Amino acid sequence: MSDVKQEGVGASSAPASGWAREELASLQARGLRRYLEPLDSPQGPVVRVGGETLVNFSSNDYLGLAASASVRAAAIAAVERYGLGTGASRLVVGDTAVHHRLEARLAAFERAEAVLLFNSGYAANTGILPVLVGPGDAVFSDALNHASLVDGCRLSRARVVVFPHADVEALTKALEETPARRKLVVTDTVFSMDGDVAPLREIVAACRAHGAALMVDEAHATGVLGARGAGLCEELGLEDQVDLRMGTLSKALGGQGAYVATSRVVADLLISRARPFIYSTALPAAMCAAAEAAVEAVEKDPALRERLWRNIRRFSDGLRSMGLRAEPRSAVFPVVLGGPERALEAARKLREAGVLVKAIRPPTVPEGTSRLRFCLSAAHTLGHVDLALESLRGVGVHQRGEE
Ligand code: PMP
Repeated sequence: MSDVKQEGVGASSAPASGWAREELASLQARGLRRYLEPLDSPQGPVVRVGGETLVNFSSNDYLGLAASASVRAAAIAAVERYGLGTGASRLVVGDTAVHHRLEARLAAFERAEAVLLFNSGYAANTGILPVLVGPGDAVFSDALNHASLVDGCRLSRARVVVFPHADVEALTKALEETPARRKLVVTDTVFSMDGDVAPLREIVAACRAHGAALMVDEAHATGVLGARGAGLCEELGLEDQVDLRMGTLSKALGGQGAYVATSRVVADLLISRARPFIYSTALPAAMCAAAEAAVEAVEKDPALRERLWRNIRRFSDGLRSMGLRAEPRSAVFPVVLGGPERALEAARKLREAGVLVKAIRPPTVPEGTSRLRFCLSAAHTLGHVDLALESLRGVGVHQRGEE
């Protein structure tokens, strides 16, 4: 293996190594240890991994743009012009014209007054929340929100009120009963591990009735939902009813990074206050150029979204014909199996049939809800989708509670 033998602080006898061995053994015993598995191909519907060629159902590259010709060409041209690294944060000397061009393009796409880029969705969520709320304030967070929102809430040091998943009645009651200087509601629009959609119209109404601000995470909705592909807010015509709409460049847009669509004044405050924006090296210009090309593809090629939705419908019909629960509401489909070992075993069997679908286990999902999480892509053929369905049938998967 690649482990280097050494003495001293990093040695395997040093205290940290002892702590790590103990914790790893405990994770292993509970089926919760994680392993890396490098791909030997570009991201796409079919990938090479561990010497095998597998149909990939675990990528968030929903439109197949990560390796598309136009996105690659834009990145390469920008590398030729700007080089690779940006050398500093945007507030120092890491800013380029491409960052500003992309922000203007995304603002038009999102129909927002302003857009500000972040280096990742994780950086956006952990950076934005502490700017908006702090001690004396309250943030109301859906129980199934993404970990980056959970961490952003914690970092803010505001009071965190977790409301039951998608339960607007409980949210309304909490908004009524919680005294606070500022109240901020935060929710995913498409939930990353369940693929369901937040009751956004009702949440907007609750926020309005209680003078609360609203921030949404459209990571899995951008490029997927809405007539123009701008997300759930667009689908419901709520763009101007939501204070902050965070989206990622890393899923349907096929790259890396994230952005928030908001008012000019909020964006200006974030530039001066959001720590991941201030204290981290700017995104490479090439990544911004790639994202411009990806947004252009979303805007100009609705066939991409049509193919994705054709696949989504085929897959959800197939799941239902097996007696599994499935709603065609996004590109994410969980098959909840229960304990981590059951999910790992199902993933192993599917892999033998040529299907790559990763087991998702706690703490990413609640205890007892380990699952296979299928992600559909516009780049899948119907043959790929049918292979996933046949393989699932072949391994005799029964959803939790239906045995
Ligand atoms: N929000 C949600 C809902 C996500 O699923 C993810 C990524 N898994 C993120 C934020 C973080 O985005 P990124 O991967 O760009 O850091």
